[in-house]
Amino acid sequence: MRERVAMFGGTFNPIHRGHVTVARAVVERLDLSRLVLMPSAGPPHKSSEELAPAEDRLAMCRLAAAEDSHLAVSDLELRRPPPSYTVDTLAELHREHPAAELLLVIGADMLRDFHLWRRFDEIARRARLITLPRPGVTIGPLAELRRALGDAAAEQILRDVQDTPLVDISSTEIRRRLAAGRPVDDLVSEAVARYIVEHGLYR
Ligand code: ATP
Repeated sequence: MRERVAMFGGTFNPIHRGHVTVARAVVERLDLSRLVLMPSAGPPHKSSEELAPAEDRLAMCRLAAAEDSHLAVSDLELRRPPPSYTVDTLAELHREHPAAELLLVIGADMLRDFHLWRRFDEIARRARLITLPRPGVTIGPLAELRRALGDAAAEQILRDVQDTPLVDISSTEIRRRLAAGRPVDDLVSEAVARYIVEHGLYR
């Protein structure tokens, strides 16, 4: 079978049980040998005031990924000067794995705004989009995307929406709780919870 490289990008500020649960589910459903978590330097569409340092977000991703041998972490985007764009990352992954099929795993909230991403049409050509449902997020009808990519591409994206578990956790909620001095042990892995406390993040 052709090699497949799956990338799951995000700020991971911090990585939480939701990320890990859906990542593992997608590995299982698509029978992937590996899924690469790709922390971003800080996407242009998110405010940066609450963004923990890249090295901490990367370290927490590594701690979370250590729990499952199918999960890997790449610092490819963090090594590039910002702003970092998915389309460039995919080009880089293609150079590293010229024969592989690239899969781009995104949450349903990201799919909603996908037509606003830089060169999203090229992203859709380079990678198969794998969408994960998220509580409270409706998927479709993808009108803008349909107009921009055509019906066939939009239909394929909808067919690739996964039936993964709905986990109602967000990094925003974690940062809010920590800022209020409340524990987050139910929302992040033990190792990540410990790292957050030891490094005094999000206080
Ligand atoms: P924030 O609350 O800071 O916006 P987030 O929890 O959405 O963060 P990100 O780091 O932005 O986390 O997410 C990385 C990727 O994981 C995105 O594609 C996002 O849609 C997806 N994702 C995050 N949380 C979940 C979840 N609970 N279920 C499914 N997908 C998720």
